[in-house]
Amino acid sequence: APAGTRGISLFLVPKFLVNADGSLGARNDIGASGIEHKLGMHASPTCTMVMGDAGGAIGYLVGEENRGMACMFTMMNQARLGVGIEGVGIAERAYQQALAYAQDRKQGRAPGTKSDTSDAIIVHPDVKRMLLQMRSMTAAARSICYATAVAIDVSERAENAEIQGKATARAALLTPIAKAFSTDIGNEVASLGVQVHGGMGFIEETGAAQHFRDARITSIYEGTNGIQSIDLVTRKLGANGGESVWSLLEELSGIVDRVEASNDPAFRTTGIRLRDALDSLGRASRWLLEKLGSAPNDALAGATPYLRLFGSTLGGCMLANEALAAKDQVDDDKRYITLARFFAENVTVQSSSLERTVIDGADAVNGADAILLA
Ligand SMILES: Cc1cc2nc3c(=O)[nH]c(=O)nc-3n(C[C@H](O)[C@H](O)[C@H](O)COP(=O)(O)OP(=O)(O)OC[C@H]3O[C@@H](n4cnc5c(N)ncnc54)[C@H](O)[C@@H]3O)c2cc1C
Repeated sequence: APAGTRGISLFLVPKFLVNADGSLGARNDIGASGIEHKLGMHASPTCTMVMGDAGGAIGYLVGEENRGMACMFTMMNQARLGVGIEGVGIAERAYQQALAYAQDRKQGRAPGTKSDTSDAIIVHPDVKRMLLQMRSMTAAARSICYATAVAIDVSERAENAEIQGKATARAALLTPIAKAFSTDIGNEVASLGVQVHGGMGFIEETGAAQHFRDARITSIYEGTNGIQSIDLVTRKLGANGGESVWSLLEELSGIVDRVEASNDPAFRTTGIRLRDALDSLGRASRWLLEKLGSAPNDALAGATPYLRLFGSTLGGCMLANEALAAKDQVDDDKRYITLARFFAENVTVQSSSLERTVIDGADAVNGADAILLA
C-alpha cells in the first residue's frame, strides 16, 4: 500500500462471523480489552479494541482498497454537523435547566426594592445577562447548523447543476464552522449553566455539572476544533481565491442592508455591530488568503480566532434575519429581536478584536518558540 494516509483501507470487522447460509457463525478474533474512564459521556462506553490475539480477525473490505480515508470522510462530514448539533443540544438543555433554577432560587432583592423577602435570582441583571448569553449563543449555533443542513440537502437533491455546485461549496464552507463554533458554544453555555446555579452547580445533584462534562468531548472528537479552524482557513477559504466566502459575505450584507433599512430603534446598534463585523471578517479573510501563500504559519496561527470571528458574524446575521422574518409573521416578534440584538451587542461586537488577533497576533505566537521550549 502507498505510504501514509493514501494507503489506508476501510474494513468491517464483525463480532461474529456469518455462515454461508446466513446463520450466526463463530466468534471473530476481536474484543474489547478495557473500558475507558472518561470525563463525561458515561452513557456511551468507549473501549480499547484488540484484534488478532487468537490468530487473526477476519475483516471485510468496505469500498476500494487504499480509499479508506475518502470513505471515512464521507461519514466525517455528516458526523461533523451531527456533533455541532450535539453542542446545540447540550447547550439547550443546560439553558432550560439554568432558566428553571433562576426562576426558583431566591437570593438577594431586585435592585432598587426594599422588600423583606428575597427575589428569584432571575431579577438580577447579571443573571439575566448569563441567561441571555446562553440563549442567544445557542440560537445562533442552531441557525448555523440548520443552514449547513439545508446546504447539504440542496447539494444532494438539487437537479440544477449550478445550484447543486453552489450548495456543495456552501456546505463545505459551513461544516467546520457548524462543528467548531457550535461545540465551543456548547462548552461555554454549559459552563454558564453551572455558574447560574451558584454553589449548587458544582454539586452533581442538580445535573448542571453533567452537561459541562458531557460537552467537553464535542470540541475534540470528529476532528478537534483546532483542526476545523485549519480546514476553514486552508481548504475552505483557500478554495477558488475565497469565492465561497465572498458570496456568503454578499448574502450577509443583504441581511444587514435590511436591518439598517428597518428603521426599528431596537435594531439601530444591531445594524452597526453587524456591519462592523462583516467588514472585520472581510479584512481578516483577505489577509489570511494573502498569508496562505506568503507566510502559512501566520495564517495557521490565526485560524481559531478566525473561525470564532466567522461564527460570531454569521450567527449575528442569521439571528437578525430571523428577527426580520418574525417582524412580519409572528405576534411575539419581540423575543426574536431581543435575542438578535443581545447577540449582536454582546457577541458579534467582539469581531473587531478577533480581527486584530488574526491580523496582529501571529508574531506573538510564532515568535514564542524559544519561550515555549524553555
Ligand atoms: C470518547 C471518545 C470517543 C471517540 N470516538 C471515536 C470514534 O467513534 N471514531 C473515531 O474514529 N474516533 C473517535 N475518537 C477519536 C477522536 O476523534 C480523536 O481523539 C480526535 O480526533 C483527536 O485526535 P487525537 O486524539 O489523535 O489528538 P491529536 O491529533 O494528538 O491532537 C492533540 C492536540 O494537537 C492538536 N493538533 C494535532 N495536529 C495538529 C495540526 N496539524 N495542527 C494544529 N494542531 C494540531 C489538536 O487540535 C489537539 O489540540 C474518540 C475519542 C474519544 C475521546
